[in-house]
Amino acid sequence: MSDVILVVNAGSSSLKFQVYELGAANALQFLLGGQVSGIGGSRAAFKVKDNSGACLVDRPLQPGEAADLSGAQEIMASWLQERFPTPPVAVGHRIVHGGPKLSRSVLINQDILDYLDSLVPLAPLHQRNNLAPVHVIFEHWPEIRQVACFDTAFHRSQDAVVQHFALPEKYFQQGVRRYGFHGLSYQYIAGRLREVLPEVARGRVIAAHLGSGASACAMVDGVSRETTMGFTALDGLPMGTRPGRLDAGVVLWMLEQGMGHDEIQDLLYNGSGMKGLSGISNDMRTLLASDDASAALAVDYFTYRTAESVAGLCVAAQGLDALVFTAGVGENSPEIRARVCQRLAWMGIQLDETANAENALTISRPGSRISVHVVPTNEEAVIAQQTLETLLGQL
Ligand code: ADP
Repeated sequence: MSDVILVVNAGSSSLKFQVYELGAANALQFLLGGQVSGIGGSRAAFKVKDNSGACLVDRPLQPGEAADLSGAQEIMASWLQERFPTPPVAVGHRIVHGGPKLSRSVLINQDILDYLDSLVPLAPLHQRNNLAPVHVIFEHWPEIRQVACFDTAFHRSQDAVVQHFALPEKYFQQGVRRYGFHGLSYQYIAGRLREVLPEVARGRVIAAHLGSGASACAMVDGVSRETTMGFTALDGLPMGTRPGRLDAGVVLWMLEQGMGHDEIQDLLYNGSGMKGLSGISNDMRTLLASDDASAALAVDYFTYRTAESVAGLCVAAQGLDALVFTAGVGENSPEIRARVCQRLAWMGIQLDETANAENALTISRPGSRISVHVVPTNEEAVIAQQTLETLLGQL
């Protein structure tokens, strides 16, 4: 088997991986991808598909087999070792937080790993999981090179004024900053626009990454100027289970009511957003199909706040040439896109209903002052590419 790069994205309920072949002239080719899903639940499963979409593995897991992330890692590692007897050239990891110091992907050594561990309090529910496989590989296969690719790095180009909160400066120095997230996705969008819509890529673009997590980012010539997520992945747009922008006084009020840290954290990360507001589901498909008034309110809130944020981001971009939708909701829901665009019609957005219904690349009418696009994201491709570039930079 030729050289491969393994991409790992470890979350709380799923462990995703992709394998890329390193070909001539360092060209990367996607070979296969899979995931252990439902970790810790009763419906855990292991699935792998190759690059033609053919299913290589689709097996429900026995209770306890993937009881936690470490069980899931064992399932992934043993399958990969059987399929690829020689170790990968490198493993690229999706790491949510690079903190104030790391503004690009980096080869992991003990110092870097210690630094990344120190950032766990900044992203308690993501960073620890992201780093779990790094620790396992570091311990068992120290010869394998590992690269950390960050969701925060893409936004380090933003002006100081954008990265600050209006708090005493000492907090900024201690790391209380607007870092922004979904940077791997936005970097992919910026690169993809250069390929398919180069004129658009050079202009003022707002990309709306609308998935279970949601944010929007203003880019000028592919460089991040401002984004809606801030210090943590809680800020900005409402999400599947997170509230998005919230008056900090609400948290003070909850503390005064006697709610503890863990209870508030669970509410903000797992019990709010579409799920909390509707009382029905975090899944946009379920909400769109529902006749319930609370589902309608949740969807309305989502489209209103998304449109409001797009308008706000125009200050950072100094206007707007193109709006791009991506991620689960953004790529697949003509209704959500239409409702966001309807709220922005005053800015000169005119949607082409047929193109929108088809999830086409360009969904605005030719006369629309601002063009609107649907660009499927691919964070793993960016991780593979950054991993390769980091390795080449070390040679
Ligand atoms: P993640 O942040 O977990 O990567 P995704 O980007 O995969 O999330 O988005 C998942 C969400 O996309 C689901 O929760 C679902 O609400 C939404 N979604 C997927 N397909 C559709 C669709 N056709 N219409 C509306 N929402 C959709």
